Amino acid sequence: MMQTPLTMTQMMKRAEMFFPKKQVVSRTASGIHRFSYKQMAERTRRLADSLTKLGVEKGDRIGTLAWNHHRHLEAYFAIPCMGAVLHTINIRLSPQHICYIINHAEDKVLLVDPDILPLLEKCASELHSVKAFIVMTDDKELPETTLSPIYHYEQLLTESDPNYSFPEDINENDPAGMCYTSATTGNPKGVIYTHRGIVLHSLALGLADGGGISERDVAMPVVPMFHVNAWGIPFAAVWFGTTLVLPGPYFTPKLLAELIETEKVTITAGVPTIWLGLLKELEAGSYDLTSLRAVLCGGSAAPKGMIKTFEQKYNIPFKHAYGMTETSPLALISTLKSYQDKLDPEEKLEIRSKQGTLVPGLELKIIGKDGEVAWDGKEMGELALRGPWIASEYYKDERTQDAFHDGWLYTGDVVTIDEEGFVKIVDRTKDLIKSGGEWISSVDLENALMAHEAVFEAAVVAVPDAQWQERPIACVVLKEGFKGKTTKEDLVEFLKPQFAKWWIPDDILFLEEIPKTSVGKFLKRTLREQVQKEVQK
Ligand code: AMP
Repeated sequence: MMQTPLTMTQMMKRAEMFFPKKQVVSRTASGIHRFSYKQMAERTRRLADSLTKLGVEKGDRIGTLAWNHHRHLEAYFAIPCMGAVLHTINIRLSPQHICYIINHAEDKVLLVDPDILPLLEKCASELHSVKAFIVMTDDKELPETTLSPIYHYEQLLTESDPNYSFPEDINENDPAGMCYTSATTGNPKGVIYTHRGIVLHSLALGLADGGGISERDVAMPVVPMFHVNAWGIPFAAVWFGTTLVLPGPYFTPKLLAELIETEKVTITAGVPTIWLGLLKELEAGSYDLTSLRAVLCGGSAAPKGMIKTFEQKYNIPFKHAYGMTETSPLALISTLKSYQDKLDPEEKLEIRSKQGTLVPGLELKIIGKDGEVAWDGKEMGELALRGPWIASEYYKDERTQDAFHDGWLYTGDVVTIDEEGFVKIVDRTKDLIKSGGEWISSVDLENALMAHEAVFEAAVVAVPDAQWQERPIACVVLKEGFKGKTTKEDLVEFLKPQFAKWWIPDDILFLEEIPKTSVGKFLKRTLREQVQKEVQK
């Protein structure tokens, strides 16, 4: 067989050649913007030309701090197709972490949405590698900013070559993208995506038993384009000629419902918090969402009740999936096998609320106390994955050795697997709390609390939350002499300047002691159960 390289340039060119009339609908700060893949391809070439003129070379990292919109989509293709690396930056992180990420990746240029400029200004003086800032604005004029040198995205495009030709010498194993993921403690860790990985992951998104995305779809990724490439949906959609709907900044459930109705969205994807919000909106208003053939849900466990309401009350098919930044992300998806159709509805729901079976192309093993676990839906072990779209290391980071061994990625997720191969996540070994699709490090909160003069010990655990899936609760043992004197409010005030608002624990419980393992580690599982009982009282 021929050894042709799997590069993103062929994805872009396919949309340009075969689907020039298909549309990208994008909600920006000033309203709904529509253009065709022909226009998108031309602007993508223009952006690549502009970046070349600014001195961007093969292998350079180009950061984006942006919402889901058409300009971000252009960057998604212009940057990798010119041989540079698309580095999407999570704008929900703290300014310190954002600054660390930009410096660690050594981003040469940053493409920034106007509303994110103030965030960037906070750390601009510490950015060592950035040579240019480009503002992706609808306005004719550049906003006022202290960042320099600063360029206007549209102005740059006007002055560029619409016939720029992408280099032919890209190797399929060259880096195309990168994204940082939160760590148990300390700075986020970088993951590099290669051209080959992105192409093969996109194929998986197109499989009927995978994402099932096709040309006939109208796909709306609600998951941010700064979080694992919006689960790779923009890449796959462009390649397949799928109509894309990008919901833009600060959307509400109402706005999403309206977009689904007016644009006749067929497939959409996001974290459970988004879908819980949409369900609430559906109860309040009247919308026609009959166009939807799939709601993809991942990032946190999809509650059974939610799946049931979508399917039984609203007749909207729901697909539960699992993945992580390190896995591009699609790894598991919960689709019933044909012969499981005859099971009763409750049994089917039980299976479909699991994280699912392995996507073709990947391999898994689940390692328990005594080696690989039995496929009995009971024995627990850590999920390990390998395959062509699974990362092999963290970028320039010694924490690689914690998660990658013998050619496998150890996910830190504790799971069971049943007789049919459906995997269910039961716990996490990583001390992270996932609130509304974003991570909170319990270890960082604990360290901060233990730096308070009154605190002897502190452990932070996740409790289930109807809206956010998980929220942090802190358990604190006060030092003798401070008991009865130091209050919850004192500790909250102490934490506030150190963390983003949504990191602050919802409650602080004062305990006599924190349960520990035989080696003195916090017994988080026991503590979690204890706290849950306390919270329910
Ligand atoms: P991230 O790298 O931020 O996308 O987070 C990946 C992690 O989110 C996984 O390791 C899991 O702990 C969690 N996760 C992702 N999908 C699911 C899911 N469907 N159910 C439960 N947890 C999930």
